[in-house]
Amino acid sequence: MGPKTQKRLKKLGIKNVRDLLFHFPHRYEDFSDIIPISKAEPGKIVCVQGEITEIRNFRTFRKKMYITEAKVSDQSGKIRVTWFNQPYLINTFKKGDFVFLAGKMVSKKGRKYLSSPTYEKIPSQFIESLENGEKYDSLHTGRIIPVYPETEGMSSRWLRFIIKPLLTKIKNEIPETLPNEVLKKQELSPIKEAIWQIHFPDSLEKAELAKKRFVFEELFDLALGILSEKIKLAKEKAIVLPINLILVKKFVKNLPFQLTLDQKKSAWQILKDLEKTKPMNRLLNGDVGSGKTVVATIAALNTAKAGFQVAFMAPTEILAKQHLKTTSTLLKGFRIKIGLITGKENFLGGRKIKRKEIVEKTKQGDVDILIGTHALVQEKVEFKNLGLVIIDEQHRFGIEQRAKLCRKQKFLPHLLSMSATPIPRTLALTIYGDLDLSLIKEMPKGRKKIITKIIRPEKRQEAYDFIRNEVKSGRQVFVVCPRIEPATKVEEDSFFSTSAEASVNNGGGLDKRILSWAEVKAVKEEYEKLSKNIFPDLHVGMLHGKMKTEEKEKVLKSFKNRKTDILVSTSVIEVGIDFPNATIMMIEGADKFGLAQLHQFRGRVGRGEHQSYCFLFSEFPNNPRLKAMTISQDGFELAEKDLKLRGPGDLTGQRQWGIPDFVMASLKNIELIEKTRAAAKEILQIDPELKNYPGLRDKLKKFQQRIHLE
Ligand code: ADP
Ligand code: MG
Repeated sequence: MGPKTQKRLKKLGIKNVRDLLFHFPHRYEDFSDIIPISKAEPGKIVCVQGEITEIRNFRTFRKKMYITEAKVSDQSGKIRVTWFNQPYLINTFKKGDFVFLAGKMVSKKGRKYLSSPTYEKIPSQFIESLENGEKYDSLHTGRIIPVYPETEGMSSRWLRFIIKPLLTKIKNEIPETLPNEVLKKQELSPIKEAIWQIHFPDSLEKAELAKKRFVFEELFDLALGILSEKIKLAKEKAIVLPINLILVKKFVKNLPFQLTLDQKKSAWQILKDLEKTKPMNRLLNGDVGSGKTVVATIAALNTAKAGFQVAFMAPTEILAKQHLKTTSTLLKGFRIKIGLITGKENFLGGRKIKRKEIVEKTKQGDVDILIGTHALVQEKVEFKNLGLVIIDEQHRFGIEQRAKLCRKQKFLPHLLSMSATPIPRTLALTIYGDLDLSLIKEMPKGRKKIITKIIRPEKRQEAYDFIRNEVKSGRQVFVVCPRIEPATKVEEDSFFSTSAEASVNNGGGLDKRILSWAEVKAVKEEYEKLSKNIFPDLHVGMLHGKMKTEEKEKVLKSFKNRKTDILVSTSVIEVGIDFPNATIMMIEGADKFGLAQLHQFRGRVGRGEHQSYCFLFSEFPNNPRLKAMTISQDGFELAEKDLKLRGPGDLTGQRQWGIPDFVMASLKNIELIEKTRAAAKEILQIDPELKNYPGLRDKLKKFQQRIHLE
């Protein structure tokens, strides 16, 4: 293949033959039933075969569109065929060619025609055998044909053309990747059969069976990886940190508020874990604003007072600083030395100090809690006796960070990860199966409901007026710009099925760099529009991922100090920051976002005493996700709903996980998940090192590499 093709394939995530064979169709068209031309009725999708008797190109007057029109006949009759804007087809077909055609019969203004059908020319040397009743082994018609996730210049037609001969050639050499006993017990098709049937199925049932095998395999591999991590960890020794009840009670009594029941439960679960001889590996999961930091602080306090150090890692400088402030306030009077290490500034005990100094003091054990960004896991930072690692707002794999943090330690420190993305149970089992889970479902008392409204285009002005009024009375506003969708090509093979939903998932290969620049453009445009046309009388600011850290901080500071009224940003602005005076979250093109993300955005307001609002601007006010937003405010409930509505892609960043699209839908299926876990467990129980399963061992190694790259 040439470099151009390679580049295109790369966009689909295809780098080698294996990737190509595992680029599965996301649906099929059933063109297996070839009918006589006379039976082709308008409104139906049909597949016919016949001879081209006429072909010509012309252009329409009004739309200046190219139309290729052909007439095709068989023994039963004649049919008119029309293609739009593919004038080159005139060179593909000649009068007298024999073709398969599959597409929709249309009747317009009394003219009946087959509209833009998928086509396949039958080689002339085959026509005779066709007349003798032999079946031509067609690729694009006359069978159930695969429709693939596509990218610009890489059609299903092309993929079929490449994949079929490849499969034919090597299908007997593809090694089985699931143990035989698993195949048998679960009644799954062997890989050779399945890979053929998933691309070129004999029937839709067989395609389904093939898919079932691959879904099972993906989930099985995932379960295997996760369970073996768990086994590995259980063998490690940890420091026992006894619960200091008097201390904990004193801390809780000192708080300016009462802990919620879920906060208490979670804190207790964590403290109990710290007492064990094996390292804790726990995820604290609770909606934005549910109060995870206090819970983590209890664990940190207990650890510090037991004589061990705590590393508290945040994804950004701004958040790290916020944590420094919060913990310092909460732990006032407990005589805990709290430090901060970031790429720029370093603090200890409320004073700025040099990087070298904080590193030295940490090494000597003169810092009890060291908060920081990635700077924490640098080679130079070394703890005297690290007991607990807390990782905030990161996905699950604190494993690697922990590994780095305790490079020179005898024992593995305990690990507490925190996440504000509510995770439904099935998903938690699948991808967090090796973590213990603490949930904070209940919000602190006294939180006001955020009034959530879908704003149709005709109500836009009204919403703007409302926003201006709020700002005039002192409040502030966030504006999130619409998500940039990669341009997806309309699939030539499926013009008749509205596959908008299907094509949404095809953007995975899109160059991230291009995407983020496109987002910057969107932010700039929205900023221009709001600052010049809509709110010229207000202070509008903007924030996006391409700004330098200092620039970002300046913008955020100006917002914090209320010098900016309205802050326009991309969808990626920091989560977790507290702006109690911001009361309006306005989301443009809200239907473009997943439910989980919308909910995250909404979580940025409603943190103060004032009534807050979330405005979902959309041209599709009936979108079920938007409706769900107006009904519920419970992140866990919405996450379950999102899972039902569109699969979990949005919840966890499936790309990070490398979970293929075709598996995502199955993550709703708790029975299947439990089955795959049981199967993986069974194998690991008999053979924990996978000595007898070299294939599985290889896959496991890849899994570990994948997660350790995070
Ligand atoms: P998150 O879970 O998003 O990290 P935070 O820990 O930042 O949430 O808490 C959000 C806010 O709620 C903080 O200002 C915190 O002081 C406050 N808070 C936490 N717990 C409670 C509670 N039980 N009652 C009242 N306010 C609370
Ligand atoms: Mg937080």
